[in-house]
Amino acid sequence: MYNLGTKRSAIRELFEYGKRKAAEIGEENVYDFSIGNPSIPAPECVNREIERILKEENSVAVHGYTSAQGDAHTRQAITDYLNKTHGTSFKADNLYMTCGAAASLTITFKAVVESSDDEIVAVAPFFPEYRVFAEGCNAKFKVIPPDEKDFQIDFSKVEEMVNEHTKVFIINSPNNPSGVVYSEETIKKLSEILDRKQKEYNRVIYLVTDEPYREIVYDGAEVPFVTKYYRNTIVTYSYSKSLSLPGERIGWILVPDEVTDSAAVYAAVCGAGRTLGYVCAPSLMQKMLIKCVGATGDVNEYKKNRDLLYGELTGIGYECVKPEGAFYMFVKALEKDSESFCEKAKQENLLIVDAESFGCPGYVRISYCVSYDMIKRSIPAFERLYKSYN
Ligand code: PLP
Repeated sequence: MYNLGTKRSAIRELFEYGKRKAAEIGEENVYDFSIGNPSIPAPECVNREIERILKEENSVAVHGYTSAQGDAHTRQAITDYLNKTHGTSFKADNLYMTCGAAASLTITFKAVVESSDDEIVAVAPFFPEYRVFAEGCNAKFKVIPPDEKDFQIDFSKVEEMVNEHTKVFIINSPNNPSGVVYSEETIKKLSEILDRKQKEYNRVIYLVTDEPYREIVYDGAEVPFVTKYYRNTIVTYSYSKSLSLPGERIGWILVPDEVTDSAAVYAAVCGAGRTLGYVCAPSLMQKMLIKCVGATGDVNEYKKNRDLLYGELTGIGYECVKPEGAFYMFVKALEKDSESFCEKAKQENLLIVDAESFGCPGYVRISYCVSYDMIKRSIPAFERLYKSYN
């Protein structure tokens, strides 16, 4: 715990550096692409509904405790929305309200991990906190190496690495940091392998899908709803990105009835919530969701940023995956040592994140949830950086 508390993540470190540098040389001279803080406002419905609740509803109830697993009306509104959108038949009691995706994941891992031999398997590139969350519940963290061809999943490695200890296989699509959306073919193939492995080892393997970027997609990209493909799927969700509310800490966990012993798994989720202190997710946010579930900010703003940055960077000569979702661009570093590349970028006041901690050295992540104007102003710096290598 001491080590975790004294060492900031690479992303946070760079973000803090950016703030110090901006104070020194002026905000307009620093191109901070470090962090995934949404840059578009929450949809209008969110603030309108919060104001209405504060004005019209009973203040004691608004700010009071809800049920530990979340307000029944909120859970009903969310499952109604999911059923309408995906043609499913979830009930309010399949859902547990949490404080954002971080809480959804730590609770889920804690609920299902039974022994220190259990393994949680992630696919590189992955959100670096997965390692912290997995090790925090005493599980072993295993990484499927990246498929650099298209950043889908290298199934030969899945075949090799999923074994009699695998308890959780975690995926994140649209992906942070690659921006890739896993295709239906990928989800089908993964489901087939995990299903076969469950039978082979006579053991449940949970497919945990971390989906805070589900609604942030471009050009009509479809994000398959994984419960339809694999029975032992647990969905973890957050409104941090879709509603631009990362500071308000609200999200949920879905344990469908189809999951083996689903009532026991849901009870374990409630137990893990208790142990970790994640009970009664923020009440005002839960109340707001009853009216605002399904709303999103103006994703077109992110698309404009993506188009500008992708066009300019590939025009200069950088190699990058065209993101279909989320708000990150994954770019090949111009030297093998991506940390050194990021240091050189820093000299141009370009703050971009080395993807080593995402399990993918040799690449960098550029968060384009920033102003369009900042991207435009940063292009000459990207050009100078490129020229310094050529
Ligand atoms: N999972 C992924 C893939 C993320 O990118 C993030 C945040 O950036 C999280 C989880 C954590 O989200 P939250 O802020 O809702 O806890």
